[in-house]
Amino acid sequence: MPSGTARKERAPMHGSSDERTRTGMSPESLKRAFVDSMFYVQARYWEVATPHDLYMAAAYTVRDRMLERWIRTAETYRKADARTVCYLSAEYLLGPQLGNNLINLGIVDSARQGARDLGIDLQEILDQEPEPGLGNGGLGRLAACYLDSLATLSIPAIGYGIRYEHGIFDQKIVDGWQVEDCDLWLTNGNPWEIPRPLLRYPVRFGGHTEPYTDEHGRFRVRWVPELDLYGMAYDTPVLGFGNDNTNLLRLWHATAGRSFDLQAFHKGDYYGAVNAKVGAENITKVLYPNDEPEVGKELRLKQQYFFVSCSLQDMVRVHLQHAPNLEGFHERFAAQLNDTHPSIAVAELMRLCLDEHGMDWERAWEITRRTFAYTNHTLLPEALETWPVELFGRLLPRHLEIIYEINARFLDELRMRYPFDPERVARMSLIEEGPVRRVRMAHLATVGSFAVNGVAAIHSELVKSTVLRDFHELWPEKFHNITNGVTPRRFIQLSNPDLCGIITDLAGPGWARDAENLRTLEPHADDAAFQQRWQAMKRAAKERLAARIREATGAVVDPQSLFDIQVKRIHEYKRQHLNLLHIVALYHRIKQGTDSDPTPRTFVFGGKAAPGYFMAKLIIKLIHSVAEVINRDPEVNQRLRVVFVPNFNVKNAECIYPAADLSEQISTAGKEASGTGNMKFSMNGALTIGTLDGANVEIRDAVGHENFFLFGLTVAEVERTLAEGYRPWEYYRSHDELREVIDLLRSGLFSHGDPDLFRPLTDSLLQHDPYLLLADYPAYVEAQARAGDAFRDPAGWTRMSILNAARTGFFSSDRAIREYCRNIWQVEPMPVSLAAGNGSVPAARADPA
Ligand SMILES: *Cc1c(COP(=O)(O)O)cnc(C)c1O
Repeated sequence: MPSGTARKERAPMHGSSDERTRTGMSPESLKRAFVDSMFYVQARYWEVATPHDLYMAAAYTVRDRMLERWIRTAETYRKADARTVCYLSAEYLLGPQLGNNLINLGIVDSARQGARDLGIDLQEILDQEPEPGLGNGGLGRLAACYLDSLATLSIPAIGYGIRYEHGIFDQKIVDGWQVEDCDLWLTNGNPWEIPRPLLRYPVRFGGHTEPYTDEHGRFRVRWVPELDLYGMAYDTPVLGFGNDNTNLLRLWHATAGRSFDLQAFHKGDYYGAVNAKVGAENITKVLYPNDEPEVGKELRLKQQYFFVSCSLQDMVRVHLQHAPNLEGFHERFAAQLNDTHPSIAVAELMRLCLDEHGMDWERAWEITRRTFAYTNHTLLPEALETWPVELFGRLLPRHLEIIYEINARFLDELRMRYPFDPERVARMSLIEEGPVRRVRMAHLATVGSFAVNGVAAIHSELVKSTVLRDFHELWPEKFHNITNGVTPRRFIQLSNPDLCGIITDLAGPGWARDAENLRTLEPHADDAAFQQRWQAMKRAAKERLAARIREATGAVVDPQSLFDIQVKRIHEYKRQHLNLLHIVALYHRIKQGTDSDPTPRTFVFGGKAAPGYFMAKLIIKLIHSVAEVINRDPEVNQRLRVVFVPNFNVKNAECIYPAADLSEQISTAGKEASGTGNMKFSMNGALTIGTLDGANVEIRDAVGHENFFLFGLTVAEVERTLAEGYRPWEYYRSHDELREVIDLLRSGLFSHGDPDLFRPLTDSLLQHDPYLLLADYPAYVEAQARAGDAFRDPAGWTRMSILNAARTGFFSSDRAIREYCRNIWQVEPMPVSLAAGNGSVPAARADPA
């Protein structure tokens, strides 16, 4: 940060030019707007501005430039009465906004120049931004990538979600253990959001229902709720890249309703009523930090219904601006359910149609089923959402009735179709029978949607053959695959400026809108001069990560070594502990003097564990414990280093993916639906060591089998191994090195002499090993040896690295969104032009969008 005096000298005067302060893009104009924002929005004067003030003023300066596009976009969509995609997601893992918005506005250079003129380093401003961590991992990050691509492809779209006051926890490491700290992303203000205090919808909970006959003599149901509260909208503009479209992310914040607890008030229980009010506001307090296993918490169901109800009411409001009733709702909107978290929307839209708009059942069902499409994200049985009927009926009595009615009609159809197969009918029911009856949300989503998709080719096949098999047999045409993607703007252009420069020099600037242009790299894969530039790029990224690691952990790593990186949520199925078994084997070989892989390696880990997931937390402790022993041992630490980067989030991710030589994608086959980290690594020129799981399969086909280190059991082999009665201890007994490695973990060597610390992990491996680490261990270690050998041939490795980046354009989220538009949503681009009416005062007031 420059000193106060330096800034004082350079503080520009304003009012000296007629260039429009609020929209100009030149360095001069940005500079003046920045100083204005500091004064008029941040209410600070130049000499006392803190780094945070600089960030806020920069953000407001950029936001002004977004709003003109945003308003023009709203106007264009409204006039055209455009079909709109509504993406319903409980999570958006957005990452920092400022850098991305500068890129999408095309003003990075202007901003850097303007900042430099003022004696400020743009990077320092960027570093100030706290990250909106409104998601757990892959699923939330996917939603954020899709918003970026929807805007870039000029698709009319709204992202709907929850404005959590506290996003995913901050991870601290204390003595090698994960400690969770509260995320405070809103504490210092969020310049990107625009509160809409007048855009509020009531959301009700509890109570009971009453049948009645309306004035037309028709049977109707009235819901008499116990509690009501309001959802208030906070809007964040989402810029497209290389166009003028700017879409809307609308997140809902809970506030207490006026009659927050009638009963308590009527009983004269003022404090009880105030408590209820506080309770209402708790709904959007905090994101549930579980990545996958189902949580089954009452507050979570409340969150889901809360944001879905607000979103659907908002869609109905927009629809009724153009139409007299809800007829045609499904033609105006395509609503995508990002996993089952928003699947209560099926019952809520039915309720709105039936109870609030007087529609008959058949018509309401027709509209509902033609509005929604559902994305399945997991096959893990413990992650499939179900809710106890008792809880559901207590919170949402009317919705439970509606679900029962949907189910009754559906089961009647099934019995006609499969008269001699009552088991199939029971399997497909929306209600799971048993001691505790439960609502199956994946079945509700499937029955209530016109399309169901998986997120990678292999995953979509498994959806059809396992969890939704019966549904696929009933409605084969409903099932699709759309392989996930990631945005090349954030994960190449923003994260890896040197790579961006290389590609732009060869392919021109268009590649960032058409990632297939990355193929122009391919013919240069063997060119020595090009390879040198490529190696310098990779080297610079590794140096940046090394500096970050030193800052965060104090550990020193060598950018010349092979950077072998595994960053993702910590989970047994992702098998960070398989990676550890290999590391301990390398350590053991060096100590024994039997090492045959002289490639120096730096192993980098990062990722959060769900706070209640003991094994995952123990894996984090084991990473630190192995790191401590290896990094301290002079006999070993010239060859191996192990580091854990705390608090893996989007901001850290942007520094990590570009720095990888080797990407660890080693989940048990059949367990990772797609993965998106695998794509980010590959695009940045990392080679993958991986199993045939999720999108790894397609990445390997795309980059060429010879440019991918494959190992491990296939899905079919995993199934067969388990069916034949898997006995992990036999692998332990028969494989000498594996036995020695596990014995080392049990010896206390890594736990200051305590042989019991890692017992839960080693016992689990030896006794059950549900994720087949021991079965895959020999093949993994062998593949690692191939990778180590390959790295010692820099030209060969660089060639493979270039080919990985050149051939992964398919994994751009733009391609994925194009497929959704064409195959599922049936929606067309609606480009926005800023040319007409720029900044003019409108003749007459238009309806607010
Ligand atoms: C991409 C990403 C993920 C998903 O990683 P996987 O390796 O696909 O599990 C999780 N967290 C963050 C911060 C990411 O950027």
